[in-house]
Amino acid sequence: MAELRKPDWIRVRLPAGDTWRSVRQSLEKHRLRTVCDEAQCPNKGECWGQGTATFMIMGEDCTRSCRFCAVKTAKEGNPLRPDEGEALAASAKELSLKYLVLTSVDRDDLADRGSGHFVSCIKTIKEEIPGIKIEVLIPDYNEAELAAIALFPPDVLAHNVETVRSLQHIRDVRAGFDKSLETLKAAKRLGFSLTKSSLLMGLGEKPEEVFSAMDELREAGVDILVMGQYLRPSPKQIPVIEYVSPEQFALYAEEALKRGFKSVVSSPLARTSYHAREAHES
Ligand code: SF4
Ligand code: SF4
Repeated sequence: MAELRKPDWIRVRLPAGDTWRSVRQSLEKHRLRTVCDEAQCPNKGECWGQGTATFMIMGEDCTRSCRFCAVKTAKEGNPLRPDEGEALAASAKELSLKYLVLTSVDRDDLADRGSGHFVSCIKTIKEEIPGIKIEVLIPDYNEAELAAIALFPPDVLAHNVETVRSLQHIRDVRAGFDKSLETLKAAKRLGFSLTKSSLLMGLGEKPEEVFSAMDELREAGVDILVMGQYLRPSPKQIPVIEYVSPEQFALYAEEALKRGFKSVVSSPLARTSYHAREAHES
């Protein structure tokens, strides 16, 4: 299929400036990874320029393979780093972060699928930096795995359904809409105060399917919804079917707010962690 031409509204700001350099230096010093780099996020210039980054823990290899994602796949992930929580806290201190977003690769090769490592990182960061807010974007954890995280709850718990029901085949075969809804419902049952999910747009979804996904997410108690344009990271990933217009994103935002989401971020360059602090505070 011929590549669609990127419309004018997909403008990526190039990284520049002193704050951007301090983020890069701090990441290198503490040997930390970000999803901003790994997923080739188009907002790096803006986010890093404001001293915001989304850390990606548990190594660079994901045990899953989603057809839209640029993260490397491997049968087994990298050995866990016992000092990862300390490294994150040290970097967050250096960058004076007040809101930290943490995500991970999927670790189906570990007995607890990495949920314990999330707990230890959240605990260490909260102990080292009193008052810091933490948002975690987690895999499709089950109730027991979530219960471990509930002992040291983050301020926002995010898990992405990624796309509408009919397009779930673009995710890894082990993922699915119902499984992800179950994670989000279990999170509410366990008392996580704010939950969040995201939809990638431009993959061939129809507006009525987007509205149904919104309804199901609200039924699962999801508080915050993010909708953004899928951008093909490289020719290895599936192509963009459509560039959704900013007007359509605005309409989706309106519909989502009507359905009762507490906060909605909907624009071509929105990503789960885009303006995460503002979405949490609004
Ligand atoms: Fe990418 Fe899928 Fe792995 Fe998430 S689970 S990092 S979307 S391959
Ligand atoms: Fe990083 Fe998220 Fe900003 Fe993208 S939107 S650059 S992943 S913090």
